[in-house]
Amino acid sequence: PSPGDVLLSVRGVSKRFGGLVAVDDVTLDVRQGTITALIGPNGSGKTTLFNLVTGGLPADSGEIWFDGRRVDGLRPWRRCHLGLGRSYQVTRLFKEMTVQENVVAPLADSRWRTLLSDAVHGHEAERARELLDLVGLRRFAGQPAGALSYGQQKLVELAQVLMLEPRLILLDEPAGGVNPSLLGHLTEVIRELNASGVTFLVVEHNIPLVLDLCDPVAVLAGGRLIAEGPPGFVRESPVVLEAYLGD
Ligand code: ADP
Repeated sequence: PSPGDVLLSVRGVSKRFGGLVAVDDVTLDVRQGTITALIGPNGSGKTTLFNLVTGGLPADSGEIWFDGRRVDGLRPWRRCHLGLGRSYQVTRLFKEMTVQENVVAPLADSRWRTLLSDAVHGHEAERARELLDLVGLRRFAGQPAGALSYGQQKLVELAQVLMLEPRLILLDEPAGGVNPSLLGHLTEVIRELNASGVTFLVVEHNIPLVLDLCDPVAVLAGGRLIAEGPPGFVRESPVVLEAYLGD
């Protein structure tokens, strides 16, 4: 797709948990080349929507399209294979394994590559080192992942996601728990990746960061999409202010 084309299209998607409508008829487009934000008060349905897009949860109704293909019936690893990557809020690295081994790890458990893994091992190690260069962690490649700071571990996770060459990355709270000095570096990496063609959908609580990094910004409240637009518009929107003040 060209910049501006719809890459991910969420169409009238809903998800209930018992009597609770966690995601309520949400329609949202993520365009190629954007860093799109998804914000909203706690419990507004952001994580649930992420899980519906990646396939961790089945939707009750609606459709999800990625790059012109309907994907809501596909298993998570199939969506991943099509170029839909995600990072996780909770650090899930193998702490005793080296940083480089962690970056390569997604290939080992992605089914479509398992059989090939020996043949391409040298290439993968090289790619992992390139990605560690990109996130600024090359010097830690041989160290156990558990020895790194929390923020550095989040950068390792980003390198991990990149190993699968996604076209869209869903980032769940990239800034959460990251110290201010590393935060500047993390946002630079996201901007660089974006400039090289990777599209992002970002859930983030740090609103100043969102307004600086993302455009457009989509706002959920009570499972519904209540506003969507450029950061300036969202900052001034009475509906958005009310949703946050009511939290
Ligand atoms: P957010 O990420 O915006 O904080 P969530 O998507 O985590 O919101 O949650 C939306 C709503 O759905 C909340 O009321 C939450 O308690 C509820 N919820 C989320 N996951 C489950 C689940 N597995 N079972 C029951 N309720 C859930």
